[in-house]
Amino acid sequence: MNSLNRTRPFQSLTRDILRRVITAAAFSMVLIGAAQTWVQYRSEVIRVNELVDVLAQTHVPVLTMALWDIEPTVAETQVSTIASHREIEGAYLSTATGMMFQAGVVDTEVEPEFTVAIPNPRNNSEAPLGELRVYYDHGEIQQAILLAVAGGTLKLGLFIVLVCLVVYRVMFYRLKAPLRQIADYSKELLPDRDNPPLVIQRPERQWQDEIDLVAEGFETLREAISRYSRERDRAMKELAEERDQLEIRVAERTKELESSRRELYLLSHTDHLTGLANRRSFEDRSRLEERRVRRYPTPLSLVMIDVDYFKGYNDFYGHAKGDECLVALGKVMMDHCRRAGEFAVRMGGEEFALLLAGQDAEGAAEVAERLRQALFDANILHEGSPLGRVTISLGCASWEPGGDLPLDDALIDRMLSLADKRLYKAKFNGRNRVCSSGATELDNGSVA
Ligand code: GH3
Ligand code: MG
Ligand code: MG
Repeated sequence: MNSLNRTRPFQSLTRDILRRVITAAAFSMVLIGAAQTWVQYRSEVIRVNELVDVLAQTHVPVLTMALWDIEPTVAETQVSTIASHREIEGAYLSTATGMMFQAGVVDTEVEPEFTVAIPNPRNNSEAPLGELRVYYDHGEIQQAILLAVAGGTLKLGLFIVLVCLVVYRVMFYRLKAPLRQIADYSKELLPDRDNPPLVIQRPERQWQDEIDLVAEGFETLREAISRYSRERDRAMKELAEERDQLEIRVAERTKELESSRRELYLLSHTDHLTGLANRRSFEDRSRLEERRVRRYPTPLSLVMIDVDYFKGYNDFYGHAKGDECLVALGKVMMDHCRRAGEFAVRMGGEEFALLLAGQDAEGAAEVAERLRQALFDANILHEGSPLGRVTISLGCASWEPGGDLPLDDALIDRMLSLADKRLYKAKFNGRNRVCSSGATELDNGSVA
């Protein structure tokens, strides 16, 4: 609709119809005028012919008598009477004796419209007494035709004007004004609100016409728009609620997942018996520390711990009590390794470890000794041990800037290996002790 408006100029329907009516009427007027002129011309010619016929019948006998009796005055009067008619321009009487009588305008060179012989009263077969020529007044005839045609045309023109006025009035009030109202209304129709009903200002009628049908159509459209608008609003509301619910559900599910993930992480990184970090956690943490040391070269220490004579403990007290013992040791480790950078691990079985970030060999030996003493002081009875209580042996390994260990990818493995060797050395030297130096001599089997 809009694209049509842009490409074609607006032209009122009323004006268009009126223009077509006037064009058709003008064409009809020309046709009717031409026909009327021809008919008028024919009837005028017939009328004049009849008139001249009547004149001939009236005047020829008188002229016969006048010429026979040789009364030129009478003949002259008769000719003048004939020429005095409005439709006759002139009359001309010539006699066999050579007399001529003329009235009105006569051009003897021109052939007259009417010629009649004045018969001999004695015998019709004898030569006529004279000849009467009558010349018609063409101007008068034309004027009569013109007046008749003009009158007819005027009447027709008035009729057409009247018809056009009626057509215009009907078109304006019955078509143009209602259509305008409908067009204005349709421009205001919006899909997203309740539109007011279409009210068309029209004269009261007892019937329905096409405008009413269009108005009904718009009413149906309006109701459909309202229905659509309501349904869309409801759907949007439901959608928004659904979305909110979904967001809440997603948030809840994300929270649950996050907590499950954390739980899973803790489970997979925690030793279920002691609650300490497990070996997997140690591997993650040690790789982290290794990278950190390579970025910022600060000391890093590892302490390997093993419970002394634990097989004997199990044998003496049972496996369950052995577990309880491990839990107790775990608690002692947790209590004594709380500082930042101190990471306590159960490596498996009755073996434990401490990863000490930022601690050099001296610091690590102190921490290890403190832990050994703490467990010793805990005094967990161990009748299977020569020491009478549960003890641990510890082996330490440290990386320090400028130290013996090279700083490469295998750093942790080297530290594990060294700490293990020193732990073995501590065992070898009598258990319940810390070994933080030496151990290269262990490589060839002898212990210092
Ligand atoms: P050493 O002083 O040389 O370390 O002697 P040990 O008896 O501790 O060493 P050994 O390796 O011979 O024994 C370790 C024992 O630890 C064997 C096993 O019964 C016990 N053990 C390993 N894991 C667990 C566990 O999870 N619970 C219990 N109760 N005992 C375990
Ligand atoms: Mg062991
Ligand atoms: Mg042991």
